[in-house]
Amino acid sequence: MTIDDVMEWQASADVTDRWRDGRVLLVGDAAHVMPPYGGYGGNTGIHDAHNLAWKLASVLRGDADPRLLDSYEAERKPVAAFTVEQAYARYVVRAAPSLREGGFEQTVDDANIDLGTRYRSSAIVEDPDEAFEVHGHPRDLRGVPGSRAPHVEISLDGTAASILDLFGTRPVLLVASGESGWTDAAREAVERTGAELGVHVVVAPDGAFAERYGITDSGAVLVRPDGIVAWRAREAGDDAAHRLEDALASVFGRAGDPASAR
Ligand SMILES: Cc1cc2nc3c(=O)[nH]c(=O)nc-3n(C[C@H](O)[C@H](O)[C@H](O)COP(=O)(O)OP(=O)(O)OC[C@H]3O[C@@H](n4cnc5c(N)ncnc54)[C@H](O)[C@@H]3O)c2cc1C
Repeated sequence: MTIDDVMEWQASADVTDRWRDGRVLLVGDAAHVMPPYGGYGGNTGIHDAHNLAWKLASVLRGDADPRLLDSYEAERKPVAAFTVEQAYARYVVRAAPSLREGGFEQTVDDANIDLGTRYRSSAIVEDPDEAFEVHGHPRDLRGVPGSRAPHVEISLDGTAASILDLFGTRPVLLVASGESGWTDAAREAVERTGAELGVHVVVAPDGAFAERYGITDSGAVLVRPDGIVAWRAREAGDDAAHRLEDALASVFGRAGDPASAR
């Protein structure tokens, strides 16, 4: 065996205090470094870019207020800090037992880190009935706002597809039933705000959609282009259009702005 090259690297665990300075936004190892135990470094950087890309696109297109970019640090910094602690804990347990005395976090299921982190910011409308934690097992999150929208097999134009195939370029309202008035509410909200919004009445076997998204048969879920649940209505109500408008205002960086919310 011939060794062609040797490259050195230093195990570090750190997160930058500020993720943005004006037009400069940090992603990847520029924002956080962690030991490679767990294989999270590159993945966390990709998650940063995934979180930021649609926000930049929305602001540059003029669809969103530049305030939306403030949600980048608010959402990514706590998740990166959690991930760095998990990578560090794995490093201590697997490779550097001498660091045990300095303390380290309890390790959690890899799935919580890969698919179960949660965001909290002005671009998410929290569910007051759900306590916030920065991570959970993806099977337990059930569409709670700020979490990754779970996969459900759906029928799309008669063909089997994943609900995830609906996300990517604009916010999408997922509706559990065509009878619940959400499509009318969406039309009203779009007319009043001019927002880009996809609307899908989800056809999934055995009520899987409502069950996996924690809503009833008359509920609806608003998903951001990055596949994160922005808002969830467990059931339809009289003020559906206004509630949806408020949620869209959050997604477009205008939370609490009365002029745009109505
Ligand atoms: C041993 C090891 C194993 C790992 N295993 C995994 C794994 O299994 N899974 C995982 O997800 N992650 C893993 N990682 C982490 C992963 O490699 C990094 O998190 C990831 O590469 C960071 O990507 P980045 O684009 O942010 O930064 P980098 O990959 O560092 O890219 C930055 C680039 O910018 C260039 N650059 C720097 N300064 C300048 C300048 N002034 N002008 C122009 N260019 C410049 C650099 O040359 C470099 O090409 C591992 C890391 C190590 C060290």
